[in-house]
Amino acid sequence: MTQPPSGGPVAVVLGTRPEIIKLARIVDLLGGEAHIVHTGQHFDANLSETFFTEFGMRPPDTHVGVGGRTRGEQIGVATAELDAVFRSLRPSAVVVQGDTNAVTAGALAANANEIPIAHVEAGLRSFDRRMPEEHNRVIADHLSDRCFAPTDLNVEHLAREGISGARVLKTGNPVVEAVERLLPDASARSDLARSHGVDPDRFVLATFHRPENVDREETLRTILVSLARLDLPVLLPLHPRTQDRIDRFGLADLAAKIEIVDPIGYRDFIGLGAAARLIVSDSGGVQEEVSVFKRPSVVVRRSTERQEVEGTFVRRVEADAHLPAILETELSTASERRTELQSLPSPYGDTSSPNRIVDAIRDLAESGP
Ligand code: UDP
Repeated sequence: MTQPPSGGPVAVVLGTRPEIIKLARIVDLLGGEAHIVHTGQHFDANLSETFFTEFGMRPPDTHVGVGGRTRGEQIGVATAELDAVFRSLRPSAVVVQGDTNAVTAGALAANANEIPIAHVEAGLRSFDRRMPEEHNRVIADHLSDRCFAPTDLNVEHLAREGISGARVLKTGNPVVEAVERLLPDASARSDLARSHGVDPDRFVLATFHRPENVDREETLRTILVSLARLDLPVLLPLHPRTQDRIDRFGLADLAAKIEIVDPIGYRDFIGLGAAARLIVSDSGGVQEEVSVFKRPSVVVRRSTERQEVEGTFVRRVEADAHLPAILETELSTASERRTELQSLPSPYGDTSSPNRIVDAIRDLAESGP
């Protein structure tokens, strides 16, 4: 029950690091048709502004403030603020990406204003109802008029929930284009590693910030201990949430055995990832990126919504008492694993994803659902 096309711009809602990475090219291709709405969810300069600069994205057209509250408040406040933006802007379509609280808010506000919704990265399911992200995904997909599913499995998940036909398009994931565009060449990657005090292929790159891993002292301790006792140096760009928990739980001594740096820009992060012997992470996007630059990774999580890479590019483990031994084994076998992965294609498609998504967004904006 959407209104006739408004002739207005395409509102692109973003605010976190992964949203910027995956929507930058789409905004670029939409050109003057795009109206960037920044949700303010990642307010640190090195989690947001840096990424705008790196991807050559113009500054946001509108800011709303989602950050720093409880989940319910974030969704409520962002929905009200986005509702006001959409009422005055009258976009011809609203684009949301991924599974943040801002995605739920963007989809609800667009729906309330009868504006067609496009969801980038649709159909991912962990089937883990403990994760707020899973609920955000389901809500966004069910409200969306176009679900851009990266893989066949994602299309299948949507079909099982009754979302099919013209509402679903398999597009691959725009992250493939982002990695291919920004990945430094082999010699720049080696220089990058050395500039961080480590030798190429002789270090581990780690990232952690998910509540399941950092919000309980015991779990965070297990992860830090496991990393600290590995045979190779571990480089850990530290997310502000993790830093906060390390300080709060008094774990700075454990962290001192790891090479901790501030969060790094995208080009350098993927460059370091592609130069690392092993990547250990709880990130969603990293699970996709390793399939593009073809390095073995261990994902420390209770569940994943990216089953396509589980067992190949990604080994998934939980942060329990077995973690130290598992990481040691994974590190000792990483070189052989890497050789096996070289010829394996990424399940997330190729660099054409943003173009296909933009064609479909334009069609939705011009003709309606
Ligand atoms: N990333 C980055 N610099 C860092 C750590 C991560 O550019 O220091 C990138 C990483 O390549 C991935 C994204 O940020 O694309 C992951 O962000 P996050 O873990 O916040 O979100 P998720 O992917 O889990 O939704």
